[in-house]
Amino acid sequence: NKMVYYFGKTKTEGKGKAKNLLGGKGLNLAEMTSIGLPVPPGFTITTDVCDQYYKSGEQLPSGLMADVGKAVKTLEKELGKKFGDNKNPLLVSVRSGAAVSMPGMMNTILNLGLNDESTEGLAQATDNARFAYDAYRRLINMFGDVVMGMDHHQFEQAFDKVKKKYKVTDDTEVPAEGLKELCVAYKEVYKKHTGEIFPQDPFAQLELAIKAVFGSWNTDRAVKYREIENIRHLLGTAVNVQSMVYGNMGDDSGTGVAFTRDPNTGKNKFYGEFLINAQGEDVVAGIRTPQPVAEMPKWNRAIHKQLLEIKDTLETHYTEMQDIEFTIERGTLFMLQTRTGKRTGLAAVKIACDLVKEGLIDEKEAIMRVPAEALTQLLLPSFKPTARNAAEVLCKGINASPGAAVGTLAFTAEQARESKDAGENVILVRRETSPEDVDGMSAAVGILTSTGGATSHAAVVARGWGKCCVAGASDVQINEKAKKIVVNGKTLTSKDVISLDGTTGEVMVGAVETQEPTLSGDFAKLMKWADKYRTLMVRTNADSPADSKRARGFGAEGIGLCRTEHMFFEADRITHMRAMILASDEDARRTALTKLLPFQRKDFEGIFKAMKGLHVTIRLLDPPLHEFLPHDAAAQKEVAAQLGVKPAEIKERSAALHEANPMLGHRGCRLSITYPEILEMQVRAITEAAISCAKKKIDAHPEIMIPLVGTFQELATLRAKVEETIEATKAAKKYTGKLDILIGTMIEIPRACLTADQVAEHADFFSFGTNDLTQMTFGYSRDDIGGFLPDYLEHEILESDPFQALDQTGVGQLVDMGVAKGRKTKPALKIGICGEHGGEPSSIDFCHRAGLNYVSCSPFRVPIARLAAAQAAI
Ligand code: ADP
Ligand code: MG
Ligand code: MG
Repeated sequence: NKMVYYFGKTKTEGKGKAKNLLGGKGLNLAEMTSIGLPVPPGFTITTDVCDQYYKSGEQLPSGLMADVGKAVKTLEKELGKKFGDNKNPLLVSVRSGAAVSMPGMMNTILNLGLNDESTEGLAQATDNARFAYDAYRRLINMFGDVVMGMDHHQFEQAFDKVKKKYKVTDDTEVPAEGLKELCVAYKEVYKKHTGEIFPQDPFAQLELAIKAVFGSWNTDRAVKYREIENIRHLLGTAVNVQSMVYGNMGDDSGTGVAFTRDPNTGKNKFYGEFLINAQGEDVVAGIRTPQPVAEMPKWNRAIHKQLLEIKDTLETHYTEMQDIEFTIERGTLFMLQTRTGKRTGLAAVKIACDLVKEGLIDEKEAIMRVPAEALTQLLLPSFKPTARNAAEVLCKGINASPGAAVGTLAFTAEQARESKDAGENVILVRRETSPEDVDGMSAAVGILTSTGGATSHAAVVARGWGKCCVAGASDVQINEKAKKIVVNGKTLTSKDVISLDGTTGEVMVGAVETQEPTLSGDFAKLMKWADKYRTLMVRTNADSPADSKRARGFGAEGIGLCRTEHMFFEADRITHMRAMILASDEDARRTALTKLLPFQRKDFEGIFKAMKGLHVTIRLLDPPLHEFLPHDAAAQKEVAAQLGVKPAEIKERSAALHEANPMLGHRGCRLSITYPEILEMQVRAITEAAISCAKKKIDAHPEIMIPLVGTFQELATLRAKVEETIEATKAAKKYTGKLDILIGTMIEIPRACLTADQVAEHADFFSFGTNDLTQMTFGYSRDDIGGFLPDYLEHEILESDPFQALDQTGVGQLVDMGVAKGRKTKPALKIGICGEHGGEPSSIDFCHRAGLNYVSCSPFRVPIARLAAAQAAI
C-alpha cells in the first residue's frame, strides 16, 4: 500500500483520491494544487499508516521513513532548499488532518527542520536573524509541548529572564541577540524536563513529530470530541508535511482565516479575519484580535483581489461554500487549507438556495446539502423585541453564532457540566475557549468569551452545534478562581442570570423573554422542493388544537398520534378521572365517565377543526390507571377530600393497582378489555365530535387507534365494540349521514409484528409505536436505560441510543415483517410510525425504505421530517 502522496509542481498524487485515505486537509491540499492555486508543496501520509501505527503498538510501519525521505528529496529539488541546510534550509509544518474536520483537536508543529546550524542559515537566507531565532525558539517550545508532552509554562521563566535583561515587556520587542540567547536557554529547559538533547537531526525531528500527530488522534479531548460529534469508523488521522511559508516576516506578511460566504447568514460575501505579521495559529487561537478581511484592501489591495478570485475558483470547483486558511509572505499569497465551511442552519438554507440560483447545483443537490437536523436552528427562539428593548445591555461582543440563550454563569467546563446535570441552563464564560472546554460547551446553552473573533475556536464549535455564542466581549473581566465577572463596574457571579444574543453580540442582565422564529423565503422554497421529491407523508403528534395549528403551519399533513391521556390531566378533569378509577362498580364508573365525555368531545372537535380535511389518529387510553392517582399521603388526603371519600380508600385502591412491571401490565387495549366503558366513552366522544363537525361542514377524518395489541383476538374484540359504539352514537344522535372513521391499531409488541397478517384482517391501518417496540425488542426499560446506556455507548456495545435512532438491524426487521405481513393480507394497508423516531432523520430514511406511508413527529420537527423524507427519496 502506498503510504505517502506528494503534492506540488513535480506531481500531485492525491488528486481525486478518497478523503478517508488522505484526510480532508490532505485531499484538499492536493485538489487546490491541481487546480493551480498557490499551495506550498508537501506530502500526505495516509490514515492507513495511522491505523497500522496503532495496530502495531505505536510503531511506524517499516519503509515509511524511507518513503518520507524520498518525498523530502522531491521537495528539496522543487524548492531549491535543503532540509537542515546551513545556508537556505527547508522548513516544514507537520499537520494532522482526519477525514472529518476536528477543529483544533489535534496537533500541528510549525518550523520543523531548524537546528543550531539551519537557524543560522535561515537568518542569512532571509537576512533576518530576529525572525530566524524567533522561529527556532517557537519550534523548541512547540516541539517540547506537542512531541514531548512538556508544560508550556516550563518555558516561560526563561523568556521572562531574557525580557528582563533587555528591559522590554513584549515578546516582539526582544532583539535578535536576545532571541538567540533564549534559544540556548530553551534547549536547556528542554533537556532538563525531557532528559534529552533537543534533536538536531531534522529527520529525527520529523519522525518524532509524525508519531506525535498520530498520538494526538487518541488524546482525551480528541476522543471526547468524536464522541460528542458522533464520529465513528475512522482509521485515524493523516499527517501532512508541508513546506513552510512565513506570515511573520514583517508588515508585508500576515495570516488569515476566511469563509467564502457569511457562515452566520449565508450572504454571498467574503467573510473572515486576518492578522498582519503573524504566524499560524495566532488567529484561530483567539490570542490577538484580528481585523475583518473587508479592511484588507487598505493594507494590500492586490492580495484582497486575488483572494476574491480564489473564492470564485474554489466555489466553482467544490460547488460549495469553503472555509479557508491563507498566509501572505512578503506580499505573496499562499493557500494552506480549504474545507467545506461549517455554517448555521439559516446559512445552510440560504447558501443551498443561492447555489441553485447561481447554477452551481440543482434542487435535489440543494436538498441534500442542508442537514435536516440543522433546521432546528431556524426554528429556534429569539428575544422578544419589547423585552429586548427593555433589557439592560451589559456589553457587546462579536456575534459569533446566532440564537438566544438565557442561563446562569458557569466559569469552567466542569461547572457547566455539573450545573447542566443539576437541571440548570448555563452560559459558559471563558477568556477564550480551548478544545479542553468542549464538554462544557456542549453542556451550556450559550457561550461567552472575552477574547477572540468570529473564527476563534469557540465560534466555530458553537456554530457547528447551533449554539448561541458571543465572542471577544472585551469588557468582560473574568475571575475564574472567584467565579465572578466584572463588566463595566457591575459584578456577576454563578448565581446571576444573563441573556446572550448571538445575532447581535449583545450581553444582557437577567432573563430576557424569548419568542418563536419567523421563517424566511428561502426556507419556504427549500420546503417546497422537499415536498416535490418526497414520497413519505409527514404527520404530527399533537393533542391540543394549538399544537395542531402550529404543526399545520409547519406543514403537517395530519395527526399521526393524538394521546388522549394528556387530556385527562388538567385540573377540571383529573377529579372525574380519579372518581372513575376509584369507582367500585361499573355503574359508578359510567357516571364518572359521563362527566369526562363533554371535555373529550370538545377537545376532539377543536382538533378536527384545526386539522380539517386531514386525518387525525386518536389513540384510546394507554397508560396504566395508577398513573392518574396521587402517590404520597398528603396528596391522597387532598384528593380524598375533593372526592368525598376516606384517604384510606384512595391508598387501598392505589395499592391494589400497583404492578411490579407497569409497562408490561394492565395498560393499552388490556384496559379496554377489562373496562369497555372507558373505550365506549372515548369512541362516543369521537363520534359525537365528528357528527358535530359534519353538521358544521367541517371535513373531519378520525382514525381510532387501539394500542398495545399483541393478538388479533384483542383487536377483533375491541373493533366490534368500537363499531357498535359508533352505530349506537349515530342512532342516539339520529344522524344518518356518512362518517369517515377508520379503526386501526398500533403495532408496538413484537408478537403483533410476527402475526401482522392476522392483525391486519381487523385493521384499517397500522401505526408502528417504535418506542414500545424498541423497549420490548431489546428488553430495555425506556425509563431505566439511563443507568447503563452511557456504558453501552462508551464500550461501543451500542452505536447510539436506540430510543433516539431506530435500530434498523433488529427492530427494523420487525417493522419490515409487520409491513410485509400486513400488506400480504391488505395490499393497500395504510402504515405509519408515531414513535419519537418519526422525527429523526436516519429513522425517517429507514421508514422510506420500509415502504411506510407516513411518519409522525412533534410539531417542531415537522420541517425536519419533510426534508429528511426528501433526502431519503433522492
Ligand atoms: P488545524 O487543523 O488545527 O487548523 P493546521 O494544520 O491547519 O491546524 O495548522 C494551523 C495553522 O498553522 C494553519 O492555519 C496555518 O496558519 C499554520 N500553518 C500550517 N502549515 C503551515 C505552513 N506550511 N506554512 C505556514 N503556516 C502554516
Ligand atoms: Mg487549519
Ligand atoms: Mg406505546
